Amino acid sequence: MEINRRAIELEEILERETVDLMGVTFDCICGRIHSIPIEYLAVRRDALEEVGDQMGIRGLSGTGGVIYDKKIEKSVIYKPLERLRAQRIDFVSYPVGDGRKELQPEVDLSREVAEGIDENINFLISIGSGVISDLTKNASSYLGLPFFLIATAPSMNGYTSSMAALTDKGIKKTLMVPPAKAVIADLSILMDSPIEMIRSGLGDIVSKSVCNADWKLSQLVKNSYFCPVPFRITDRSEPLYLESAREMAKRTEHGIGVLTDGIMRSGLSMTVIGTSTPSSGAEHLIAHYWDLIALKEGRKKEFHGVQVGVATIMMLRLYEFIRNYPVKKKVSLSMLKRVYPSRESVKESIKKKFGRYADGVCEEYFQKYMDWNEKLKEIEMILDQWEEIWNELDPYIRPTEPVVKALQECGACSHYTHLGRRKEEVCTDVRDAILIRGRYTLLDLAEDLGILGKAAETVL
Ligand SMILES: [Zn+2]
Ligand SMILES: [Zn+2]
Repeated sequence: MEINRRAIELEEILERETVDLMGVTFDCICGRIHSIPIEYLAVRRDALEEVGDQMGIRGLSGTGGVIYDKKIEKSVIYKPLERLRAQRIDFVSYPVGDGRKELQPEVDLSREVAEGIDENINFLISIGSGVISDLTKNASSYLGLPFFLIATAPSMNGYTSSMAALTDKGIKKTLMVPPAKAVIADLSILMDSPIEMIRSGLGDIVSKSVCNADWKLSQLVKNSYFCPVPFRITDRSEPLYLESAREMAKRTEHGIGVLTDGIMRSGLSMTVIGTSTPSSGAEHLIAHYWDLIALKEGRKKEFHGVQVGVATIMMLRLYEFIRNYPVKKKVSLSMLKRVYPSRESVKESIKKKFGRYADGVCEEYFQKYMDWNEKLKEIEMILDQWEEIWNELDPYIRPTEPVVKALQECGACSHYTHLGRRKEEVCTDVRDAILIRGRYTLLDLAEDLGILGKAAETVL
């Protein structure tokens, strides 16, 4: 009976429009209580006009600190600032950066931002996209101040997530932060955002199939927690954004509306669980790995979601290949034992590959490293339960072609060569990406079975 009641309540919640999910708390079929602590979300044209009223309703008074990237002050920020002034909101501007250099989403920078905020500031307002939102979230967490997020581009899914994705010594970390009081996405602003940022938003959310399959896989192999609700939350928007990619490319109100709704739902799928797992699987590891090597080599990073989109296609192809691989015939345990790396040898190779970032990489990787005897048990279980595992994963895995088509229709990169990477490089990238995060994904499974190299060689 109890399970029934929960299931019925859950179905009712999943039917709701995205903006009506704010503030919900429910008993989930997974046994946990989930909640979305963001109080208010607006995704519509002219949503900026209600910032002042919403502040009153949410109890924000006094002086606000407005945080934005100085680089886009004149091109993008002036309009929202004007709207805030017109509503007689009292605020002080805190532009970040020198107006020329690209801002880096780093923990240290968020601390600097927090330190720069005057003592009389009562709340924060972030105007920007990924980097500025994450910096503000973390700064507000240091300062204990409530905040509003005003979106300027539908470029990533972080607005509605209760996490800040910031790098610490080169390694991407997901830091828990208090939720925004309100998230304001004014479509008339978002429709003007650069096309690359729109493509990036689409790339970020097409990953959800891989993320949830990886998460489910991790439950099946590691016996860890999994909940089907995040997948269901994002599932509803998937057909809409896959069909509307052309409209996104044209930046129509419908196209940008669908995309923005999709990124908001994707963020919520993380918020309900309190981790980034439902929206960050192996494709995100690959994207973060590319960020890390760009940093190491002093190159400019690509947009997050653009990389995620490309890596999603790679992962969907790997899923298909590995799903159909005759492991029982081809995997030899004695061979795997011979090549299994010791702790010391992994440490050595991480040092060689990652140089000054090696300590951070080791910290992540050794969360999942196992000595051979333990690993052997895990591999035997996987081989033994191979069919059952894939039966459980199948509902989460989507065909590759509709995703490729949507990315192409939006004009986004859909192949690693579009990012300037060569085949021999990505065949190594997928193996090295395993090292930078403690999270278990399909890449770990394939590497443990000794088939990742062959899979990458065949399908990438
Ligand atoms: Zn649940
Ligand atoms: Zn992402």
